[in-house]
Amino acid sequence: MGEVNQVEDQEAFELDKDQLEALRLEAQSVSPEEQAEFRNLVTGAHRMFVDKMGSYVEALKSDDVIAQKFIPVDVETYKGMHGNWIDTEGAIIHKYTQDIGGGQAFRKEGNFAVVFPTDLWATYDVETKRKFLETGRSEIEAKEYVNGALMTNKILHEITHLYQESSYEIPIEFVEAQAYWVAREAAPQDIRISTPSFDMRADAYQYLLDKHGSDVHGLGFNKTKNNTLLNQIGKK
Ligand SMILES: [Zn+2]
Repeated sequence: MGEVNQVEDQEAFELDKDQLEALRLEAQSVSPEEQAEFRNLVTGAHRMFVDKMGSYVEALKSDDVIAQKFIPVDVETYKGMHGNWIDTEGAIIHKYTQDIGGGQAFRKEGNFAVVFPTDLWATYDVETKRKFLETGRSEIEAKEYVNGALMTNKILHEITHLYQESSYEIPIEFVEAQAYWVAREAAPQDIRISTPSFDMRADAYQYLLDKHGSDVHGLGFNKTKNNTLLNQIGKK
């Protein structure tokens, strides 16, 4: 989730459908049934993204194209991709030393995203778990609910990265804050889930939004340019 890379002097390119399918065959870790379910999840998240942010994006992609760009992997496959593909020469990347995150948009390596399962439920204390169990869910249902909502959050986050402009003018902290904000705010209330660390970054974005208005959205997607805003976020 904290994973996005910006590489200077390197042309962005997009893997085509066949290349993505080849990569999917090699890397994806789920059964055909799970793949169909995952695809629905991505399509649903893309609808949420379009509803919330569509007017701030220059060229929206179809649900199909976005679904093709998402590959569910296991943690080990992800680490391999991260280790093998990210060119750290001249790149600014967030490393997963502490927080491995839950996915990554490989924008400069073909503009696609991988996500892997993480267990947010397991990190909850007894008190937090009790709140979810009070709604009448069993422990298994509550765990599925929390981790399912988190997966939608991660997909929304990475969809945002797939649409963002990769530019050295825009600090990576802004790029991440926008992705965390969209992941939180585009999800419907009943599956909205967050963590203190997600909220910290989403709240920083909200602060800019309150101050500068919707230019903030357009800036991340390269649709508006506001020098006052750029100066402010550049100095943070
Ligand atoms: Zn990110």
